[in-house]
Amino acid sequence: MSDILYPVNDLYTCVQGEGVQTGVAMALLRLHGCAVGCPWCDTKETWEFEAQHQVETLAAAQGANPRYVYLSATAVAQHIQAHHPGPKWVLVTGGEPAQYDCRPLVAAIHAMGLKAAIETSGTEVGHVEAGFDWVCVSPKLHMPGGKAIQPAALAAADEIKHVVGRQQDIDELDELLTAVPLKPDVHICLQPVSVSAKATALCLEVVQQRGWRLSVQMHKYIGVK
Ligand code: SF4
Repeated sequence: MSDILYPVNDLYTCVQGEGVQTGVAMALLRLHGCAVGCPWCDTKETWEFEAQHQVETLAAAQGANPRYVYLSATAVAQHIQAHHPGPKWVLVTGGEPAQYDCRPLVAAIHAMGLKAAIETSGTEVGHVEAGFDWVCVSPKLHMPGGKAIQPAALAAADEIKHVVGRQQDIDELDELLTAVPLKPDVHICLQPVSVSAKATALCLEVVQQRGWRLSVQMHKYIGVK
């Protein structure tokens, strides 16, 4: 299990810009690879593995680009401890990080005295029972990649953050929430797609009706990545 190498696309210190933990400082670990295919994806450079983009050092991979480096869980955690000493949390994101067995990664993060959070599309189950301290599932429904939501992925969620552009997105979320047994205290966040004013108005209305939470991608308003 401990021999797993993770394709790291980026690693930097940031402030969580979305969902329940908005504003919390985190070391953001972006793993490469995603087959979901959301048209509005902010990180399309992480989708494909192309041999010419595999590099030998983390420094060569870092930044918003299609390059990635394979690192062990221990190497990632040690790098975070040495170079990103401020945050108490490591946010594992992608790409689709749950396509990988996350157990060694979480164990290595915990060994450094840090907490581990993950953001996943709900189409993979590598986060289930991996020991994450916070699981955010942002279910991606009917995307071009044709990947289905995995019930076990959703059942592990502490937070379900749904991207909304129109009423149909709310209806589809309602259907999903009744189809899968969820944690009783799961937080439901609605996030307007691409900071759209129309979607924001719809989300505002629904979160007030349902007692849910609005997620507004704070990082886009304050101009940080
Ligand atoms: S699941 Fe995430 S990384 Fe993958 S295409 Fe959708 S938004 Fe992009």
